[in-house]
Amino acid sequence: MIKGVPRLNEVPIASQSIDRLIPLVGEEPIARLKAKAEAAKGQLRGREFWNVNSTAHGGGVAEMLHSLLPYVRGLGIDTRWAVIEGNEEFFKLTKRLHHALHGSRGDGSDLGDAQRAVYEAVAQENATRLSEVVAPGDVVLLHDPQTAGLAPHLMAHGAIVIWRCHVGNDEPNTDVDLGWDFLGPYLEKVPLNVFTREQYIPDVCDHGRSVIVPPSIDPFSPKNQEMSEETAQSILINTGIIEAPNGAPPVFTRQDGSPGRVDRQADIVRSGRAPAWDTPLIVQVSRWDPLKDPIGVMKGFARLLERPFATNAELVLAGPNVSAVLDDPEGKGTLDKVEAAWRDLPHGFRDRVHLACLPMTDADENGAIVNALQRHASIVVQKSLNEGFGLTVTEAMWKARPVVGSAVGGIRDQIEDGVSGLLLGNPKDADEFATALERLLKDEALRTKLGNNAREKVRENYLATRHLLQYGEMLERLGG
Ligand code: UDP
Repeated sequence: MIKGVPRLNEVPIASQSIDRLIPLVGEEPIARLKAKAEAAKGQLRGREFWNVNSTAHGGGVAEMLHSLLPYVRGLGIDTRWAVIEGNEEFFKLTKRLHHALHGSRGDGSDLGDAQRAVYEAVAQENATRLSEVVAPGDVVLLHDPQTAGLAPHLMAHGAIVIWRCHVGNDEPNTDVDLGWDFLGPYLEKVPLNVFTREQYIPDVCDHGRSVIVPPSIDPFSPKNQEMSEETAQSILINTGIIEAPNGAPPVFTRQDGSPGRVDRQADIVRSGRAPAWDTPLIVQVSRWDPLKDPIGVMKGFARLLERPFATNAELVLAGPNVSAVLDDPEGKGTLDKVEAAWRDLPHGFRDRVHLACLPMTDADENGAIVNALQRHASIVVQKSLNEGFGLTVTEAMWKARPVVGSAVGGIRDQIEDGVSGLLLGNPKDADEFATALERLLKDEALRTKLGNNAREKVRENYLATRHLLQYGEMLERLGG
């Protein structure tokens, strides 16, 4: 055993009927999906369909697996989810890889032989443990750079491996090359790779065995389920994000269908009062990551406040409690920098910016808080400098919010500028950002139009039905 690497974890998956999506998408796609699932079952012949990633909570992949896999199971396919374990060194280097594939330098640390040795040791350890439970012939879908190193081991064990990469950069650069140079040796023989966008496929995987599958959201999860205004208000008051009590209980329905209640408070950095219920809120929900550009959001918002246009809008930057996301060791450092930049804001502006670290102890409760915050937002922003896909954008669009997003990565696929949201051509341009905010704050009809179109866009493209149909096609392809 490697020092500091505990044992492999399996995440329990409940079964969920896909029929509950019928009222949202209609009968036809569901019938098609069921037929596809029957075909997949025939192909799998009792073998299991594994998903392997590096965290059970926090970040887009865990979020997606929580919502998608219960439907897979509900469709009668034996699916399991394992979470690999790593030590601090491993997660530091995989974070570096993550940044590299996004085209950025991250902490600039080496990706040399020493790092490869750490990566391979952790991969070997996890693959050995997985091989105890994965049978030859099982299909194993590995997610993201953290798990790529397991591919050769699992293939040698007889598993059918698919590697899915949720990150990518619109254009190659030296950092991207560095990332693929590191990962390439583990991927050369993988029979099927999955990317979020065509532009993300690297040469090493570009052998006609890569497919494009964008992610999806679950409209029934605590994060996306319908929520009354009173409940949203009450959740935001209970967590300390907004002011003034009301009488409604802060309740929601848990992923397993049981009733839940928001009891924990967010950890909030602010200097003035909490915003009132009727204060327009501009909201970005993201991990504390420089690529999400939280400091840029603050500066762009300050630019808006400098303008003659009068607004009482306030900004909420929300992210996970920094100790909670195990595979994101940089979160605390980034939050410290955001806080320092916040302290540098002129006093009158600082009062109108709130940094909220949301409690992560209970994933459903966290989802309900994000739900309330996104629903209550007058404008949701995602001013990422790079974005593999951007689930926070999908989530806000589903809630019919007007979204201002950077024209990068998957955000470009989701938002049609001026139709289903507003795109920022240059995400680093604080003025462009302030102009988009001003335009929306002034124009309620535009906010409503963009929000309604956004919801339709998600209904058609980013729900589980489309996603699982593509999974079925992937299995068919491997069968061939
Ligand atoms: N998220 C969350 N709580 C937080 C911050 C983020 O639940 O405090 C969720 C967010 O709602 C979304 C996911 O984490 O579902 C982030 O996915 P995205 O694709 O936007 O970015 P990633 O973190 O994968 O880069």
